[in-house]
Amino acid sequence: MEPREFADGVWVFTSRAMCTTTTVVAGRRTAAGRSVLLVDPAWEPDELVGIADWLDRNGMVVGAGWATHAHYDHVLWHPRFGAAPRWATTAAATYASGHCASLVAGLGPDWPRDLAPLVGAVTGWDGDEVPWDGPLVRVVRHSAHCPGHSALWVERAEVLIAGDMLSDIEIPLPDSEGISGYLRGLRLLEPWVRRARVLVPGHGRVAVRGEADSPESRLALDLAYLSDPARATGDPRLRNAPE
Ligand SMILES: [Zn+2]
Repeated sequence: MEPREFADGVWVFTSRAMCTTTTVVAGRRTAAGRSVLLVDPAWEPDELVGIADWLDRNGMVVGAGWATHAHYDHVLWHPRFGAAPRWATTAAATYASGHCASLVAGLGPDWPRDLAPLVGAVTGWDGDEVPWDGPLVRVVRHSAHCPGHSALWVERAEVLIAGDMLSDIEIPLPDSEGISGYLRGLRLLEPWVRRARVLVPGHGRVAVRGEADSPESRLALDLAYLSDPARATGDPRLRNAPE
């Protein structure tokens, strides 16, 4: 599995499972290698190994991990990523620690036993920036889709890592916050979407400013869907909607 570099020092891998994305943000050079922030590593066990191989080949070491939210496809880890701190918002970390068994169960009966204890093992962090020794990465907290969901804003590269929002293949999926709560989350993201050169959704294609499928067009699509889901029959993402 090879990633694509969408901005200087920001690479995105795409899993064969649900087009789930993994984002790598380059940090400082250290004696051990170039430190990176690893966001939502996913998904299949061989793909996690592939990410570790790629990091090795490129002289990179994981300086920190971040999980955008506490659904099973976003809180994975592999021993080869090392013992770096793994962060999520406090609400997401609390949710994960309360749902350990169901997170692992969601991965299916064949999920490797040695990887199971690593699922959801994140630590809560409610600062405005990711605590690591790399470039500034802001945390945008909200509670759309899952309690304690966060997006990350990579300041220098103008990249928004959106988690399970603003996807080209997944319709907005509100959880207990309902449509109004989901809209609040989108409104919090809106200023970052408008600044973004690159938008990385949790699933699907990366959107690039200036192209037809741009960060702002993703926002417009989500807002249109939520304004009246019953009438959004032309939304191409409905083909992928869960039953
Ligand atoms: Zn997801």
